[in-house]
Amino acid sequence: RATLYLVPTPIGNLSEMTSRALEVLHQVHYIAAEDTRNTVKLCNHFEISAKLISHHEHNLNVAIPKILSLLEEGEDVAIVSDAGYPAISDPGYEIVKEAIAKHYNVVPISGCNAALDALVVSGIAPQPFLFYGFLAHDNKTKKKELEKLKHQMVTIIFYEAPHRITKTLNLMLEILGDRQMSLCRELTKRHEEIIRGRISEILEIAGDLKGEMVLVVEGAKEETVEEVFETTIKEHVQQFVDE
Ligand code: SAM
Repeated sequence: RATLYLVPTPIGNLSEMTSRALEVLHQVHYIAAEDTRNTVKLCNHFEISAKLISHHEHNLNVAIPKILSLLEEGEDVAIVSDAGYPAISDPGYEIVKEAIAKHYNVVPISGCNAALDALVVSGIAPQPFLFYGFLAHDNKTKKKELEKLKHQMVTIIFYEAPHRITKTLNLMLEILGDRQMSLCRELTKRHEEIIRGRISEILEIAGDLKGEMVLVVEGAKEETVEEVFETTIKEHVQQFVDE
């Protein structure tokens, strides 16, 4: 049976493309790409001649049947996104589910992922961890998401965009408290920078930070019974006030 390969691509530094990833991209006749304009550049650089199929979050109803029909014909297909792993805050999950349901082989190729790069250099406990990806854009939903996360005693990894970072850190400070965190930006690129400190400290400089970034935030500390009672009472009173 045909194989669907999940092929990670570099998140900045082209030399992080692995030989196995290249082997697969050279071998398949079809690559399903999040943005074919970006993948063309990668293919030109590595002299890959596979046909590109567009596969992004707004055309899944066309892209998925197309990929499934290729698999049906016995063609292996590689999925790539613009950077890092497909399916991690990128398209990929839907086709993986469909391919599994139809009993095709689904094979992961190891490689680049911004979340894990950030986690291992963060200095925050690497396990257990929770990968959250992007928080919602609107403040109300973002607050609700953080409220749900605040009691999780696990390291949490977020993706964030520079134009939202100040707002997000302000909400984190308000809801999660002044925890230790690491802001990892421009990983594997020339201006790679890892900033470690309390949320309040990083907030002071966040407005000036540009580029792609990952936030690694320490988990909730074990609360004493008194603290749990105190927050429960506070939340109860707040609910009463809201009503
Ligand atoms: N699929 C990708 C992966 O496996 O990491 C993630 C794609 S997601 C659309 C893009 C987000 O990943 C960025 O907004 C940023 O939060 C993070 N990211 C990607 N490349 C990065 C880099 N070089 N340095 C820091 N963060 C990065």
